[in-house]
Amino acid sequence: MTRVFQDDLASGFATRAVHAGQRPDEPTGAIMTPIYQTSTYVQSGLGKHKGFEYARTRNPTRDALERNVAALEGGDHGFAFASGLAATDAVLKLLSAGDHVICGENVYGGTHRIMTHVFERLGLTFTFVDTRDSARIDAASTSHTKMVFVETPTNPMMYLTDLQAAGQLARDRGLILVVDNTFATPCFQRPIELGAEVVLHSTTKYLNGHSDMVGGVVVTTRDDVADQLAFMQNAVGAVPGPLDCWLALRGTKTLPIRMERHDYNGRRIAAWLAQHPKVERVYYPGLPDHPQHELACRQMKGFGGMISLELGSLAKARAVVERTRLFALAESLGGVESLIGHPATMTHATVPKAMREEMGLTDGLVRLSVGIEDADDLTADLDQALAAS
Ligand SMILES: *Cc1c(COP(=O)(O)O)cnc(C)c1O
Repeated sequence: MTRVFQDDLASGFATRAVHAGQRPDEPTGAIMTPIYQTSTYVQSGLGKHKGFEYARTRNPTRDALERNVAALEGGDHGFAFASGLAATDAVLKLLSAGDHVICGENVYGGTHRIMTHVFERLGLTFTFVDTRDSARIDAASTSHTKMVFVETPTNPMMYLTDLQAAGQLARDRGLILVVDNTFATPCFQRPIELGAEVVLHSTTKYLNGHSDMVGGVVVTTRDDVADQLAFMQNAVGAVPGPLDCWLALRGTKTLPIRMERHDYNGRRIAAWLAQHPKVERVYYPGLPDHPQHELACRQMKGFGGMISLELGSLAKARAVVERTRLFALAESLGGVESLIGHPATMTHATVPKAMREEMGLTDGLVRLSVGIEDADDLTADLDQALAAS
C-alpha cells in the first residue's frame, strides 16, 4: 500500500502530474525515479530492512506511480496492477460470495465479462442498470448490495452518470461507489471530489498515453478499503513490473497537456462529424445536442478525445474503418496516435447482442480515439474514408 505524500496535495494539477509521488533518488540524486528492476532487497539483520522485502509486495518505482496517481485523483492511497482488469479484479475481491453489485449497463466489455463469467460463478451477483438515471441504482439495491460500479462517460455510447447523485445514494445506503475514470481521467473529472470512495483506471489508456504498456491502478480515500486492497495486491499478485510502472509514471507527467490537445481535437472533430451528410449520429458529451451535455459541463472540465458515430450499417462501418490511414484500426484508446474501432465486433463482442442493440451499440457504430495530431489532417483522413461509405 502506498499513501500519498500529503504535501503533494497542496499543489495544482499540472504540478502534481510532474512531481507528485516522486522525490530525487536518495543515494544518487537522480531526478527521475529509477526503474528498480529487482525481485528482492537485502536485509541488514533479521527483520531489519528499509520497508522493502520482496517486490510483489512493494517496489519503489511502483510506489512512485501509486502515489502520483493517488495525488492526481485527490485520494489517499494508490495501488498499481498488471492491467485495468487486474485492478477491477482486486476491487471486486473486496466482496464475498452472496454480495450484490449494481453495475452500469454500458461498462467496458471486459468489465462485463469478468463480472458475469468469473465473479458470478464465484457467488457474487450483479444487476446491470442504466445509470444515466440514478433512480435505477436505488431501485436495484437490495439488502445484499455492497457496491455500485460505474463508468462515466461510457464506452462507446458516452452515457454519463451523475456522480454527485450516485455518491449521495451510495452514502445513504452504505454502499461503496467505484468509478472507472479511464475515459475522462482526473484531468477532466475527479470522482472522489464528487462522492466516490474508489476510483480505478486502465493506465494502458490516457494515463500512460503512449500505447506502450498495459496496466491498471486503484485509488481510494478509505483506510479500511486500502488495507484490503494492499492485502489483495500482495496475496493475489497481479502486480505490474517496474518498467511498466516507470512508463506510466513518465506518461502522467504530460497528462494535462495531452488531455488539453485530445479535448481540442475531440471538440473540433465531433462538430465536423455532426454536420457530415454520411454520419447519422455523433455521440460526444461536448456537443450541445448530447442528451446529458448539461451534466457533462457540470461534472467534467473537458470532454476528451473519445467520439462514437453511427453510420447506419455494418457495410458502411467496415468501409470507413478499413479506409482511414491516420486513424489506425486497432483496439484500445487514449494514446497520442488516433485509433478507429468497431465496438460490436471488437471491444464489445462479448456483450450479448440483445444488450448491445438495446443501448444503441449497433453494427453501424464506429468509435474514434482522437489523438494529438493536427486536427485538419484527422478530418481530411475521415473525409476521404467517409466518401467511400
Ligand atoms: C481498457 C479499459 C479497461 C481494461 O483495462 P486493461 O488495461 O485493458 O485491462 C477498463 N475500463 C475501461 C474504460 C477501459 O477502456
